[in-house]
Amino acid sequence: MTTNTVLSTSEELSTEEAISSPVTVAAGDGIGPEIMEATLGILQAAGAKLQLEEIKIGQSVYERGVTAGIEPSAWDSLRRTHVFLKSPITTPQGGGFKSLNVTVRKTLGLYANVRPCVAYAPFVHTRHPKMDVVIVRENEEDLYAGIEHRQTDEVMQCLKLITRPGCERIIRYVFEYARNNHRSKVTCMTKDNIMKLTDGLFHKVFDEIASEYQDIENEHLIVDIGTARLADTPEHFDVIVLPNLYGDILSDVAAQIAGSVGLAPSANIGDHGAMFEAIHGSAPTIAGQNIANPSGLLLSSVMMLVHIGQPSVAERVHNAWLRNVEDGLHTADMFTEGTSTRRVGTRGFARAVIERLGELPKLLKPVRYAARQSDILTRANTPWERKPPLKKDLVGVDVFMHWREGSPETLGAILKGLGNHSLQLLMITNRGVKVWPDGLPETFCTDHWRCRFMHSQKADIGHRDIIELLDRLEAAGLDFIKAENLCNFDGVPGYALGQGQ
Ligand code: NAD
Repeated sequence: MTTNTVLSTSEELSTEEAISSPVTVAAGDGIGPEIMEATLGILQAAGAKLQLEEIKIGQSVYERGVTAGIEPSAWDSLRRTHVFLKSPITTPQGGGFKSLNVTVRKTLGLYANVRPCVAYAPFVHTRHPKMDVVIVRENEEDLYAGIEHRQTDEVMQCLKLITRPGCERIIRYVFEYARNNHRSKVTCMTKDNIMKLTDGLFHKVFDEIASEYQDIENEHLIVDIGTARLADTPEHFDVIVLPNLYGDILSDVAAQIAGSVGLAPSANIGDHGAMFEAIHGSAPTIAGQNIANPSGLLLSSVMMLVHIGQPSVAERVHNAWLRNVEDGLHTADMFTEGTSTRRVGTRGFARAVIERLGELPKLLKPVRYAARQSDILTRANTPWERKPPLKKDLVGVDVFMHWREGSPETLGAILKGLGNHSLQLLMITNRGVKVWPDGLPETFCTDHWRCRFMHSQKADIGHRDIIELLDRLEAAGLDFIKAENLCNFDGVPGYALGQGQ
């Protein structure tokens, strides 16, 4: 690790901005080092007050056998600075390597992924010249918990986890972000018409917290129609908040239609740190040729400057960059005959931005950063207070079976015979479709069966009843994969009631 200080030359810094901020930087792989050099050169010229600590990540670390791509010693720096400006890395081919981004996000608890997707028409081609959307993706939960199992010969399972503390944190964050950045509307997208409990919780918490922010318009859309509308008329959207998987997909869609994948920045924000990086990769085929566009990393560093409380430096850099986009000194990936005026390399682009520091764009809207973004975290971070427990009644069990011996009727007859007065077979589904009783012969069945046993009076039962049921299944030579308890919480069923849709 090396330490380096970038001295301020600006006379416009507020008292807070005059204090130097520690930042961990990683030059990464491929084009990483050259875009980092360009970015840091611009920040220095703009007067950023940074104490840089450099760490090594990526390919060389992976090749030394460190499967996460980051040395244990690098964590000391990240824990000290809490701020990470990261260039892209090359992910080695083959198995056994962990995603560095996922490791950093999970270790530092970076729960919010913020990705502004902005059109720079007419200087960067897009069909949506008025687009200016910020996608905020929940970063830690959902199908990304990594809990997957092979359950039968034919069936794999991935668990989708959505938690109330996780929902409250990201949704409070998004409303604070919207307020801090003078945004007027937040749209939430889920698929709660199908996933009524998991996505339903995200939507419910959105509605609860939205009601505390009367100054900001809110809406909820089902994610399929919401994505279609975003792709068609993105100018109708302002800030969008989504669970992890939908957010992953939508943020790429949004960056693509804004015309700015190569320019798009991102921030991963949490209570114990923040990571800033471009959304593009390490582009190894153009590495070392002085042709890479440093804009994605530079705009990420702008987000970082606002986060660490240097908003006026962030403004100077961002407005100079916008002015340069207008003046047409473009790297090869942005260059368009008729719009661009000169093709420049990575270093030429950085020089052009530096020459425009202090200038504002003429056609594009200048940026204005008022408050520091980390204040959003302070306001969003209401400590999680565990509420008193609800009355939880065990009323049944879903037993999942690996079974390939016959028809649903045969399985139904066997299992019916194994029920007793506390637990009786209510139904069997296959891939969520009810196949017993009264299944249809057309329904295709795999070797994976969800068999629901309930108490006949829907009364409370004990764990012992389930253990005894499993004992009887085992004695009958049946292969159960897992048992999922069915509980009511304050009398409300905590499980999906029927077959899937
Ligand atoms: P990529 O983003 O590196 O490249 C896609 C295309 O865009 C290429 O044609 C490339 O030349 C071009 N490009 C990307 N950034 C550019 C820039 N700044 N200026 C000009 N042109 C640019 O995606 P890929 O080829 O799929 O991945 C390459 C490597 O990057 C892989 O090892 C991948 O795993 C890794 N990657 C890392 C990150 C990260 O560190 N966050 C993200 C994505 C991909």
